[in-house]
Amino acid sequence: MGDAKTFSSAESTIACNNGVPFHDGDIIVRSTTAQVDFRIHKAFLAVASPFFRDMFSLPQNEAPSRSASVEDMKDGLPIVPFEEDPQTLGTLIQLCYPRWMLLDCKPIFPTIERVLPVLIAAKKYAMDGVEREVRAVLISPRFVDPDPLRVFALAVKHGMYEEAKICARHTLRTPVLAKQYIPELENITAGAYYHLQDYHIRCGAVAAGVVQDVRWIINETSVWFDCSGCRGGSPPVMISGDKRKWVAKWWADFMMEAGNLLRDCPSGVVVGVDSHVVQMAMEKASTCVACRSRALREIKEFCAIFSAQVDKMVDGVEFSYLAPNGIA
Ligand SMILES: [Zn+2]
Repeated sequence: MGDAKTFSSAESTIACNNGVPFHDGDIIVRSTTAQVDFRIHKAFLAVASPFFRDMFSLPQNEAPSRSASVEDMKDGLPIVPFEEDPQTLGTLIQLCYPRWMLLDCKPIFPTIERVLPVLIAAKKYAMDGVEREVRAVLISPRFVDPDPLRVFALAVKHGMYEEAKICARHTLRTPVLAKQYIPELENITAGAYYHLQDYHIRCGAVAAGVVQDVRWIINETSVWFDCSGCRGGSPPVMISGDKRKWVAKWWADFMMEAGNLLRDCPSGVVVGVDSHVVQMAMEKASTCVACRSRALREIKEFCAIFSAQVDKMVDGVEFSYLAPNGIA
């Protein structure tokens, strides 16, 4: 048992390139999948995990049975075998250590695939603090922003319902009802996906309602209210203070298009100033001499308020997913 590679700061490239203090300590933890050892201070494992606290408080031959137990010695130190691969084990240990000891070496999660094994291991060894930290990584913008449906499916699969709610909110930027397929959907129930679709439909109705009732519009001096040359084809709209205002046709078209988009993708980013629907509106506005000079500046200000109004209204819609075991 003593011929495994020891994971030291000098030769480590697995978990961190900046030098992990895993060459010093009073216990060896071994990844049995690759026979890689980490020499660490067992006190940090004991603080992070009641499982290891209990194990280390027992005489060596009475260690509690789970995958990890003290089995052998190396360099006069007990070896605790782990089923986890070296990358997972290295990251898990890093997360148990105080940050000041790791200097610039932060736990590395290059891909979402690296997050889940650490999360599963943290649960397995009852490392509650580590688990909380890894759950926060899972729903961090770098994973959720590019692929919210995927992270949603992973969160549901692993029973993380609060994280699933957060991911569901992020999926609103994409049309879930457009039959988007990802392999991770195979791992969740039809019930979970039904609730996500239902959430989209309810949010879509609320977001489209922001266009239908524009009494949230306070600024009545925008060019689309002022330009008499662009009016036509649309009835006046009622804005804040119950004032009826005639509007430019290009702006009425823009709002109708925005409403259609928001029904499918009920998120404020859909009507951001860089969005396609705004660019189309600016092309139409540019054909009017009166609107041309003011439209872009004023639509930028308007879209910031419009977008925030959509998000505010959607925030009020609850994602009512109930897990099979009844945990909301
Ligand atoms: Zn005009």
